[in-house]
Amino acid sequence: MEVIRKIINIRDKIKEYRLNGKKIGFVPTMGYLHEGHLSLVKQIREKADIVVMSIFVNPIQFGPNEDFDKYPRDFERDEALAKEAGVDIIFYPEVAEMYPSEILSYVNVEKVSDYLCGAKREGHFKGVSTVVLKLFNIVKPDFAIFGMKDAQQVRVIEKMVEDLNVDVEIVRGEIIREKDGLAMSSRNKYLNQDERQNALALRESLLFAKEIIAAGEKNAETVVQKVSEAIMKKCSTAVIDYVEIVEFSTMQPVRELSGEILIAEAVFIGKTRLIDNVLLKI
Ligand code: AMP
Repeated sequence: MEVIRKIINIRDKIKEYRLNGKKIGFVPTMGYLHEGHLSLVKQIREKADIVVMSIFVNPIQFGPNEDFDKYPRDFERDEALAKEAGVDIIFYPEVAEMYPSEILSYVNVEKVSDYLCGAKREGHFKGVSTVVLKLFNIVKPDFAIFGMKDAQQVRVIEKMVEDLNVDVEIVRGEIIREKDGLAMSSRNKYLNQDERQNALALRESLLFAKEIIAAGEKNAETVVQKVSEAIMKKCSTAVIDYVEIVEFSTMQPVRELSGEILIAEAVFIGKTRLIDNVLLKI
């Protein structure tokens, strides 16, 4: 496994692989790797000859009051895990390599970024789609994989690729969870013992939503209310950022539940903002 820090060097390397007819699979991450990231590697490996993982904590997708500075970083650990998982190249650029001068061009994917995290984290998806397009232009992958843990991000990237004719196939990776159901996340590291227990409120409330919908509930507002109550019952100190139900393809809110819908939530457990979701076909 090679670690490459410069754009010019990864471009040369990829050019060589492409000349030899190799298919490139790409796993963009912000590092502090866990089984969720590694499952994406495994999945893309089935389609690609060469797996490139980027590790880059992207400053332009963090708001001024978010955790860019304290986002967990441990490159040595990541390097070992990536190698073990069969990554061929880690692209690990410095911020100054990705943003050598003030950036004036952005990608803004409208509508699918209007609700959920798009509404709560101003400028977040603009930062995500911009860096992902930059990374696509650097790595030139045939396939790129994104986890459904960040379901809205998946739709934002899929729509960007469709609208801008980016020559890459987007693959969706399923959510990987801890044994007790908590969705894996680099941010779980922030949780103390009590908070780790309280964090189960997210998964449990989504399973409860599934149950009430299976029992016949069709009204989105009622489900949102019951899910919110379930979160607060499990953890009275939780602060709900949002619980929303949207149509998956458009990411627009629904009133009556039908078709492919996403129930998504963001909840502060202590100071840590966690997200989770469930995708349902009704
Ligand atoms: P991050 O490092 O958090 O930016 O995530 C990098 C990629 O890993 C994104 O495509 C995420 O959706 C994906 N990812 C993060 N957590 C999980 C998880 N628990 N299961 C599956 N994919 C995940």
